[in-house]
Amino acid sequence: MKELWDRIVSDGEVIGKDVLKVDSFLNHQIDPVLIMRMGEELATRFSQVGITKVLTIEASGIAVAMAVGLSLKAPVVFAKKSRAVTQREELYTAEVFSFTRRESVQIAVSARYLKPDDTVLIVDDFLAHGEALKGLVDVVKQSGARLAGAGIVIEKRFQHGGDILRSSGIRIESLAAIECMENGKITFGNT
Ligand code: 5GP
Repeated sequence: MKELWDRIVSDGEVIGKDVLKVDSFLNHQIDPVLIMRMGEELATRFSQVGITKVLTIEASGIAVAMAVGLSLKAPVVFAKKSRAVTQREELYTAEVFSFTRRESVQIAVSARYLKPDDTVLIVDDFLAHGEALKGLVDVVKQSGARLAGAGIVIEKRFQHGGDILRSSGIRIESLAAIECMENGKITFGNT
C-alpha cells in the first residue's frame, strides 16, 4: 500500500537493527484517515470469506481492527493482556512473548465472544517473530471457530514470523513488508 510505505519512510524511526517506531500515525498518535484506508484495504482482501469476527490484541491492534470491522460490518474482539476482575467467565488464554516488552504476558478472550460458528480474521499492527499471532491463532483454535487468516499493517520479513505461520497454512496479508532496515534504510518487499 503505497500511501503506507511513503508514511513509513517519512515518519518511521529505525531503532537499532530491528525495531521500527511509527508513533506519529499508528502506535501513539493515530492518523484516523490512514487507519480507515488501511482497514478498508485489509477488509477488501478478505471480503469473500464470510468473516463474522475480527480479533486483535490490546492496545495497538485495536484501531486498525476497528477499521477492518467497520468495513466488514463484523464485531471486533480484542484479547486482553491482564485478567480483569470483571472477567469471571470462561476464558481462552495463551502465553505470548512480547517483542517490545521482552517478557511473557498472558492473553485472554472470553468464550462469550468467540464461538465455533465464527469465521475469524486476526488483525495486528506488526508481525515480527510471530509470537502475538501464534497466541491469537491458539485462542481461535480453543474456541473451535474457523480461522480465515491474518491482516497485518507492517510485516518485518527479516524476523521470519510470517514464514513460519504461512508454512503452517495460515493466509497472511500485509500492507507493508519490510525486507531489511540496515543502517536506518528501510527496504520494502512485495506484498
Ligand atoms: P511478534 O509477536 O510477531 O514478534 O511481534 C508483534 C508484536 O510486537 C506486535 O503486536 C507489535 O505490537 C510489537 N512489535 C513488533 N515489532 C515491532 C516494531 O518494530 N515496532 C513496534 N512499534 N511494535 C512492534
